[in-house]
Amino acid sequence: MKHCYECGTALAPKKCEHEGLVPFCDSCNSFRFPIFSTAVSCIVFNQTEDKILLIQQYGRPDYILVAGYISQGENAEQTVIREIEEETGLTVISHQSSVIVI
Ligand SMILES: [Zn+2]
Repeated sequence: MKHCYECGTALAPKKCEHEGLVPFCDSCNSFRFPIFSTAVSCIVFNQTEDKILLIQQYGRPDYILVAGYISQGENAEQTVIREIEEETGLTVISHQSSVIVI
């Protein structure tokens, strides 16, 4: 993707926290992640499995699940582990297909 899909401005790579270099639109002041990529969302439980983790991302006020794009060469499970560790600084100590315990 060479141009912003919202405004058409040429994109330039910019360092995005936890993501590395990501195409950035100066006009929209927004990162433009590839729109064809596959992403994961993670439901992260505490050890007693009675709470889930929500985070704030990129300075936004909303609370969301930990999520992120699958990188080239990763499978979805590897992405889940990487994203949790990058976004929260917590370490995944066990995991199943649908439950993550940290
Ligand atoms: Zn733009």
